[in-house]
Formats: sequence, structure tokens, C-alpha cells
Amino acid sequence: MSDDDSTLIDETVADETVSAETVSSAEAAENMAKVHAAFTKAGAIAASIKKDAMRLVNPGESALDIAETVEKMTRDADAAPGFPCNISINDVAAHYTPETKDELLIGEKDLVKVDFGVSIGGCVADTAFSVDLSGEQGKLMEASIAALEEAVSLIKPGVTTGTIGAAIEKQIRSRGFKPIENLNSHMIEPFRLHAGVDIPCIANGATYEIQEGEVFAIEPFATPGAGHVVDQPQVEIFSVVGEGRLRMRSSRELLGKLVSRYFTLPFAERWLVSDFKSKLVLSATLKELLNSGCLYPYPVLREANRGLVAQFENTIIVEHDGAKVISGVIQP
Ligand code: MN
Ligand code: MN
Repeated sequence: MSDDDSTLIDETVADETVSAETVSSAEAAENMAKVHAAFTKAGAIAASIKKDAMRLVNPGESALDIAETVEKMTRDADAAPGFPCNISINDVAAHYTPETKDELLIGEKDLVKVDFGVSIGGCVADTAFSVDLSGEQGKLMEASIAALEEAVSLIKPGVTTGTIGAAIEKQIRSRGFKPIENLNSHMIEPFRLHAGVDIPCIANGATYEIQEGEVFAIEPFATPGAGHVVDQPQVEIFSVVGEGRLRMRSSRELLGKLVSRYFTLPFAERWLVSDFKSKLVLSATLKELLNSGCLYPYPVLREANRGLVAQFENTIIVEHDGAKVISGVIQP
């Protein structure tokens, strides 16, 4: 995602006097407390929405309606969507958000993953759940849930991301499934949904030591398929990553709006329809922004062997003695 290093935490260089250092570290602690309060508030809203969203997933429901309802519930709670609500079905693992006038309906036996974010001032609580309408995928669901529970129980300051990855892999493989090895859990910072440090879902030997105060989204994906995802041609989600040489006036205008509305957080093409007279101009504008390097695309991700995919996700804050889950219970 974004390589931007923006952060709300001001790393002011302290004077050489002791008092200045004290002030600076007190300010840093105060800043961290403010950031954690924003994450905690976002998490409480996400937990409440998750309960209602789970009841929306039924055969015959429109994916577009579910996504728009989740996003409306977020705005009604005086928060902003941290990214477009993803409704990924069966072997689609992630990054499917409905397009404008999307006609996709939930099928009788679908395995539906709903993944959404709640942002308070750029502090995003990222959470996801799966609904198995077939009633036949209990073991697959359990593999993802057990891996998430195990990871949360093991996280504390000093533990390496590789240790957590090994524990996730063990939980999923012991149930006869594979973790999706190219979808990682990730650190979150204000306005940085993927803040540079990943927690793998396999024993890859990663040596990063988790620190007190860090925030992570933990999201183990389980599948009976190949164990990795591949990009699809469809892209509905983008984020701003930089500036570029833009020929079209509509591109320059849209880029300004995108930065002021979403900064570095992901957005959906369908969120921009009312800004344009026609879908054609919107598409051409997004195309120029993409080709000039201003936007990063998030293609729809499908399981490589078209295996079913289950995912559960929660956001946690690392405290001195363990992980505090801020986005509610796994299955409300
Ligand atoms: Mn998510
Ligand atoms: Mn996530």
C-alpha cells in the first residue's frame, strides 16, 4: 500500500536538557493515548455494526445493499468508512466491493465474507467475519476462528511476528486446511491501514518484535485450495499514493478531492459517481490517475485453485501484558 510515512505522532527531536526530553516524552505519551482513544472508539462502533451486518447476509440479498448499509451505519455513527465495505464470496478472498448498480445477489449456499473499516480521524478499526449459508463449512470457519484466537492470545511485547505466523499456520493446517500465504495481518497507524509491518500466516522466520502500543489487524484466511490468491482483472478499490503529470482537468480536480476526502485511505469507484456527469468520464479520469502513478489499485483477489475461503479479522492494541481486542467478538 502507501509508502507514505505520515503519522500523527510527532517525533520531535528533544533539546539536550533533561527537562526538554521529559516534555517531549510526555507529549509522545499523550499523543499515543489520543491515538489509542480514537482506535478504541472506532473499534466500539465496528463491534456494534458487525452485530447488525451479520444479520444482513441472507440468500437473495444484494451485495451492493449490504455494503451500502454497512457504510451508512458507519456514517450514522459519526465515523467514516476506513475503506469500502468488501463483500467477497466463496473463492473470492478479498477486495470485492460492489460497483455502481452491481446486481450480484447472495446465493443459497454461499460462503460470504464481509470486511469493513471504521475510521475515527484516520484511526481505522479493521474487522471481518464470514457467514456460511450452506451450513457445511463449519470446519473451515473454525480453522480461521481458531487461528485468530490463538494469534490474539499469544501477542504481547517482545514476541516475534514469525512466532505468531507459525501459530496461525499450525491452527489452520491441523484442521486440514491451508493458510492463504500471500494475505497477511498488518500493523495499522493513523491514515496508514497497512503500516509496514506484517504478521504472516505461515512460519516464515520473521524476526520483528512486537512492541507495546502498536495496533494490528489480525486476519487469518483459511482454504482447502492452493493456499494463495491471484489478482483478477476487476478493480473497484483505489488509494492515493502520489502526484503525477495530469493532462485532463477532471483528473487534477478529482485528485484534489480524493486527497481532501480520503487522504491515503482506500476508496471505491462507486463513491465518486455523483462527482461526474457520466460513468464514462469517471472511468477515463480514474484511468489517467492510475496510469500517471497517482493511484494504487486493489484488484479483486481470487483463491488460485478456486478453493472456498473463510476469514475472520479483529483489530487489537498491544498492551504491556497482551493484546486487547477493540473490534468486538469474533462471531456476535
Ligand atoms: Mn479487513
Ligand atoms: Mn485488514
